[in-house]
Amino acid sequence: MIPEMTVNPQVVELLARLHQAGHEAYIVGGAVRDLLLNLPPKDYDIATSATPGQVRQVFRRQARIIGRRFRLVHVRYGPNIYEVSTYRREPTAEERIGQEGDDGVVIWRDNQYGNREQDAARRDFTVNAIFYNPLKDGEIIDCVGGMADLEEGMVRAIGSPEVRLAEDPVRILRALKLVAQYDFSLEEELEKIVRDQGARIELASQARLYEELLKIFAKPYAVKTLAVCREFDFLRHFLPRINEVWDEPDGLLMRRLAAARDRRKSRGSYWKSRRLALATVALPTALESLGIADPSEFRQVPEDCGRTVRKAIRDLFHPLPLPKFLTHDTKDVILLLPRFFDPSQKERVSRHPQYRWAHELFSLCAEALDWPPELLAEWPPADDGPSPPRRRPQPRRRQRRPRGKDGHASNH
Ligand code: ATP
Ligand code: MG
Repeated sequence: MIPEMTVNPQVVELLARLHQAGHEAYIVGGAVRDLLLNLPPKDYDIATSATPGQVRQVFRRQARIIGRRFRLVHVRYGPNIYEVSTYRREPTAEERIGQEGDDGVVIWRDNQYGNREQDAARRDFTVNAIFYNPLKDGEIIDCVGGMADLEEGMVRAIGSPEVRLAEDPVRILRALKLVAQYDFSLEEELEKIVRDQGARIELASQARLYEELLKIFAKPYAVKTLAVCREFDFLRHFLPRINEVWDEPDGLLMRRLAAARDRRKSRGSYWKSRRLALATVALPTALESLGIADPSEFRQVPEDCGRTVRKAIRDLFHPLPLPKFLTHDTKDVILLLPRFFDPSQKERVSRHPQYRWAHELFSLCAEALDWPPELLAEWPPADDGPSPPRRRPQPRRRQRRPRGKDGHASNH
């Protein structure tokens, strides 16, 4: 059903090597969903009967075992990394009540190896639990009715939606992402739980929710995903501040900018654009924090405003724990914008590590807010290559650099 050549040849080779060593191995999750829907997969997840040690034996120096709680293997092919995980099963009732303070509902530990059927059953939704082997005449293993649901465009929990969403509330967000991305519907009982139990997300690990947020921004459906979250009365629990501003002028601006980014992203731009994505969403709020009501008045950077903008960014995404370096870089992207009105600074500004994202943000402002696009013609184009290496944290005394007029370190 899926022509073999549409699967990444590295993945085909990876599976073949596991098979040759006598192990079962399948593509699972989002990649199978996308391939069956005739869409290019974003990345590939692989499930195997081999233990991490056995995977390591097959791939040797190409493989790295990661994770302390549940060990996965990252298999590297040049710049590409594929995640290979051993079949897992859900913990039994006794295993669940193994921890102090555990209520026996939420799954804190999910680290028991299992077989293929058990691995399908521990997954969240039927459309995410289809196993595909491109090597054996396109073998599809569908233990949970995922194919029928995929055809119907239905998000259905595996097992009782009430139980499955209670044991891991992150699944609420994952269900809504499927609705936003593919225009799927929620199965009736699942929809009821999603609408009634949204507050449960407050119990979920913020670090995992942050990971899901990054995945939302990695795709061109960011605005739609947030809009669907709002439609299901979930945004107020997930990102309360964004929910509050949604219908305010700031929120409208945010949506216009982010929609422009999504449009460009759907055309294939912006490899690794977390900073740009966050800056796009945070720009209106950041300007408000600086007392700038109309974005077209953002022609100068007020003095000592770095901290204010960082706080505005953090607050907007509260309670998700954005790492410091990301808030810092996002703030830089935003504060570089007014520099584009003065091409005499071209030399210095275009060497800034965030220059290309600021260039893109300006271009988005030109598209969404009618900023003068001709100004950009004077500036070097922003390349879309790999991100510059992350700066290492500097020892404190070296961080004290002379301050420029705008309150930034002078090399900004
Ligand atoms: P994407 O296209 O965004 O990568 P995905 O479905 O592949 O979508 P991943 O986060 O890559 O999402 O997860 C891979 C697979 O792992 C899922 O398809 C699903 O089978 C399983 N999975 C992920 N998160 C959960 C969860 N919270 N509960 C149960 N199964 C999960
Ligand atoms: Mg995936």
